[in-house]
Amino acid sequence: MVRVAVVGGGPSGSCAAEVLAKAGIETWLFERKLDNAKPCGGAIPLCMVQEFDLPDGIIDRKVRRMKMISPSNREVDIHLDNSDEYIGMCRREVLDAFLRDRAAALGATLVNGLVQRIETGSNRQGPYTLHYADYSGGGATGEARTLEVDVIIGADGANSRVAKAMDAGDYNVAIAFQERIRLPREEMAYYEDLAEMYVGTDVSPDFYAWVFPKYDHVAVGTGTMQQNQSLIKGLQEGIRQRASRRLLRGEVIKVEAHPIPEHPRPRRVVGRMALVGDAAGYVTKSSGEGIYFAAKSGRMCAEQIVATSQAGARVPSEADLKGYLRSWDRQYGTTYRVLDLLQTIFYRNDAAREAFVEMCDDKDVQRLTFDSYLYKRVVAMNPWQQVKLTLLTIGAILRGNALAPMGYRPVPSAVRGADEAETILAEGGIRGGIRVAPVTPDREPALTRS
Ligand SMILES: Cc1cc2nc3c(=O)[nH]c(=O)nc-3n(C[C@H](O)[C@H](O)[C@H](O)COP(=O)(O)OP(=O)(O)OC[C@H]3O[C@@H](n4cnc5c(N)ncnc54)[C@H](O)[C@@H]3O)c2cc1C
Repeated sequence: MVRVAVVGGGPSGSCAAEVLAKAGIETWLFERKLDNAKPCGGAIPLCMVQEFDLPDGIIDRKVRRMKMISPSNREVDIHLDNSDEYIGMCRREVLDAFLRDRAAALGATLVNGLVQRIETGSNRQGPYTLHYADYSGGGATGEARTLEVDVIIGADGANSRVAKAMDAGDYNVAIAFQERIRLPREEMAYYEDLAEMYVGTDVSPDFYAWVFPKYDHVAVGTGTMQQNQSLIKGLQEGIRQRASRRLLRGEVIKVEAHPIPEHPRPRRVVGRMALVGDAAGYVTKSSGEGIYFAAKSGRMCAEQIVATSQAGARVPSEADLKGYLRSWDRQYGTTYRVLDLLQTIFYRNDAAREAFVEMCDDKDVQRLTFDSYLYKRVVAMNPWQQVKLTLLTIGAILRGNALAPMGYRPVPSAVRGADEAETILAEGGIRGGIRVAPVTPDREPALTRS
């Protein structure tokens, strides 16, 4: 009987372990920290709730409105008209624990342990010996143990030890930085079913900054490519300032940061070791989305193991495991390429970002964006829509330069009058967190200080 170790108990690992355990394959799921709260915006598409059968209790907020905010503070409201549709906002500690426990209930052996080293056998073909610190006894250092298996799924995130053991090669990473900010009732009520995305050089030269609602707080953060890493705290200050009138009397309750892969690793299967989720590098450009792709890749990889091992009767070969890569690339290759292209075109500078937000005001663009996000399907456009979209893109890009601001201002409060907001702000801004000077790009004057 085939023995499989899944290293990492995030969405990718748990969804892989679930499939393996269901098929009756002997499965160990390693998670170094069972109460891990992965730094994450926690936004998931509707198709994930349906495909992975997630109960309502996992979802803190059902977001039906997304506000895109341009560098000049143009606000475009994107609504989901159908009341059954939403973007789910969840806390990772809740989602991850649910998926992990479900895999364990189906028969996977859940090990509270940190995998520290892997012996990979000759030519990395296995069998593999995992050396791990077992924390199940409750001690701080854990008890040293080993386990021999035939197959390993590396679901251990951006700093993957499995990737190192298999010599998977490196990828570029972006750094996502986030503060969880607790808000008073009125400010929080505004974010009840609404998330905000801000673009501008002040908040991210590479991606976007976000205010995402959680059950009793908002997650406020920004993503930055590695070469701009030194700017990240200044960019976080940028989003704090732009959103300052909407985060009145806010209090930082947690500060967190984590790498986000920017593209797949050069090798995702070596021997009988396969990478999934962030370990493989499956986060999309433009949107920075990775939870669904993690869960889905874990599931697809495990399904390939089940099928090619004849439900665990024989050890699958390297070629068998590579079948999962072919299915993956066929199913999602276009999605990754389109989002990469969008990022190259629209996140280049403030003129392009203005153009991007302007385009999002169009109903066809909104439907297209939501359909591809919520359902992960490439939506076919009719010829008229295609022509319209092309003209819109050209027009918006041409106008972008004129629309781009010479500086950045905070957006007004959405729930209080201007005077009241200023009075509250005068009492003090957001409490806690890390404060540095905001980033002031060369061509723009400094952001208007709160
Ligand atoms: C700040 C931020 C915001 C984000 N926001 C969003 C968002 O809103 N929506 C979205 O879709 N994506 C978002 N992402 C991306 C998303 O978090 C990842 O794509 C997703 O978590 C990948 O899941 P995973 O299971 O592959 O890896 P992870 O979630 O990283 O899980 C890996 C697990 O492995 C465990 N582990 C690691 N090493 C070992 C080891 N040696 N032994 C045992 N266990 C180990 C870790 O403790 C962890 O639980 C965001 C990322 C960041 C950093």
